Amino acid sequence: MSARAGIVVTGTEVLTGRIADRNGPWLADQLLELGVELAHITICGDRPADIEAQLRFLAGAGVDLIVTSGGLGPTADDLTVETVSRFCGRDLVLDAELEDRIAEILKPMMARYTGPGAPDFATVRAANRKQAMVPAGATILDPVGTAPGVVVAGTPTVVVLPGPPRELQPMWHKAIGTAAVQDAIAGRTRYEQQTVRMFGLPESGLADTLRHAQQTIADYNRLEITTCLRRGELEIVTRYEPDAATAYAQLIALLRQRHGGKVFSEDGSLIDDLVAGMLAGRWIATAESCTAGMLAARLADQPGASQYLAGGVVSYSNNAKSELLAVDAALIAEHGAVSEPVAEAMAAGALRRFGADTAVAITGIAGPGGGTPDKPVGTVCFCVALGDGTLLTRTTRLPGERADIRERSTTVAMHLLRRALSAE
Ligand code: ATP
Ligand code: MG
Repeated sequence: MSARAGIVVTGTEVLTGRIADRNGPWLADQLLELGVELAHITICGDRPADIEAQLRFLAGAGVDLIVTSGGLGPTADDLTVETVSRFCGRDLVLDAELEDRIAEILKPMMARYTGPGAPDFATVRAANRKQAMVPAGATILDPVGTAPGVVVAGTPTVVVLPGPPRELQPMWHKAIGTAAVQDAIAGRTRYEQQTVRMFGLPESGLADTLRHAQQTIADYNRLEITTCLRRGELEIVTRYEPDAATAYAQLIALLRQRHGGKVFSEDGSLIDDLVAGMLAGRWIATAESCTAGMLAARLADQPGASQYLAGGVVSYSNNAKSELLAVDAALIAEHGAVSEPVAEAMAAGALRRFGADTAVAITGIAGPGGGTPDKPVGTVCFCVALGDGTLLTRTTRLPGERADIRERSTTVAMHLLRRALSAE
């Protein structure tokens, strides 16, 4: 038994690459978690003939479920429901009750538009009558925006969802609760899925350990392992049927034994979440040169960051380092702006300037110019300073281009922070 699915992403803006597809990958992940095998993701423009061709292709491939994204709006070029209806051999019928519900949703929206150029209610309501036209017998998914989704049971069952991700995601959760979708994916395999994250280990080191695992763990082949390098960290996602749990436990034991210090998360939690947890009750400040605020921004991405994030200084020029962080100009002249003594002075300056008990400084050469034989592009110095005088200072040579080096620097800083704070 198994269940297979296909995803049709529609929208000329996605096809042309003007906007990046966020729905295909998100739905893929959801299906994976459900234990439904994903056969294809296809992308096409808004033309009904193209949408229909993709539906036919996926049905021909024998999938049990098709999920479409996009094309549910009120305008004439939004034709997904009509196309799916025809494909499933259903008539398109007006759902009067749904039409009323959409009208209710529109009232407060309409009230926000006044003055010249505002659409009149009758016109809008007529346009939205179109959104109340659904395939006969379909299950309606209540709109999150104004567009309802539909589930049409059949072989395959088709789930039609709107394009905006903030609408699609909650509606998908409603869709999987419907009898039609549950029937379609009844053959799914129930998997456990676990994520381990590591930092500071090259991919080749992990590959070597996995080869070793293959030779020593009896049921290794029952583990479906995907490894990927992300933001300078290694992510290891393992999927297995519940009765292969022993093999997974053996894999974890091997990872711990060979790379103990490099495994920072065994439950999938992210470095940003771990650091946020450790910063509770503290007060952190940043001093950034080559990353120019990216670390502060990353810290502020966490909800509740105002509880511990004091602020940061973007001290790009030497002058700014001296003026704002009291870094001695002579120190910069002696060691260079990209040096451990300067990173330490920047961190100390940030501690004082913000009255903080935790500070991180980053100074480096992001390139493409500015490298020297001594300090090539990618040389980045870090310092974490704590109120009790603890200093953790490091210099790294980061690979990649300017954007990679700056981004990777924030990851290194997060891991140094974790190390400094967990030593406390
Ligand atoms: P609307 O009522 O807003 O027109 P819709 O269901 O017709 O909704 P589309 O017209 O296909 O959806 O897309 C509307 C907007 O939603 C797009 O302009 C885009 O910003 C966003 N969007 C659509 N599809 C995707 C996608 N696959 N990934 C990310 N964003 C998307
Ligand atoms: Mg649209």
